[in-house]
Amino acid sequence: MKILVPVKRVVDANIKVRVKADGTGVETQNVKMSMNPFCEIAVEQAIRLKEAGKATEIIAVSCGVAQSQETLRTALAMGADRGILVETDVALEPLAIAKLLKAVVEKEQPGLVILGKQAIDNDCNQTGQMLSALLGWSQGTFISKLELGDGTADVTREIDGGLEVIKIKLPAIVTVDLRLNEPRYASLPNIMKAKKKPIETLKPDALGVDVNPRVVTLKVVEPPKRNAGVKVPDVKTLIEKLRNEAKVI
Ligand code: AMP
Repeated sequence: MKILVPVKRVVDANIKVRVKADGTGVETQNVKMSMNPFCEIAVEQAIRLKEAGKATEIIAVSCGVAQSQETLRTALAMGADRGILVETDVALEPLAIAKLLKAVVEKEQPGLVILGKQAIDNDCNQTGQMLSALLGWSQGTFISKLELGDGTADVTREIDGGLEVIKIKLPAIVTVDLRLNEPRYASLPNIMKAKKKPIETLKPDALGVDVNPRVVTLKVVEPPKRNAGVKVPDVKTLIEKLRNEAKVI
């Protein structure tokens, strides 16, 4: 069974994101970019399935600017077999990405697609669900455990107040949560080997997908600065402040 893993290039999780001076978006020039952390967990899961003999090939796919190749190389260095870059300079929305991924799925015919539950730059949490709807495939979202059976998968989902275990039919879409696994670091020899692994480049037009944005961003602003906290001498003062200053009780 082939596994497809969509991976997104995002501003590194350790970087403080800054809004561009003209308010049109966030600064990405000269900023360290990395693979979305949830996508790393997705790649790790695919590798573990291959190591367990349950998958034959792992294909990493990224949609976006040419530099997304670097993100694909990271996936290849971790253990993916080959990469597909769907290259465009257009700012992609989750629906456009889901349509592109659907076209790649139809071309590659994987038995499982493992996505991150969300991208840390837009926090959308939409792509996996949209892809499942477009393909008419089963979905298991926010998973913290995955067991493949014969034509089915048992997935444990992280839901409000607990865990939910569901059985889904394959082929399926799953989106991974934080507790599924701890992604491995790519070793230096594997980074070197990854340079020789193939990356195919496709264009949205060739896949027959219109990626033009449907949403217009009017303005992006920094969150308001928080005032420094104060220490209160006793509970009486605290209650007074909550009642008269913060007006929350
Ligand atoms: P989102 O719906 O934007 O929060 O993203 C959820 C997941 O969809 C990510 O963790 C990736 O697995 C996948 N995804 C989102 N954007 C892209 C992209 N540009 N290229 C490849 N996969 C993506």
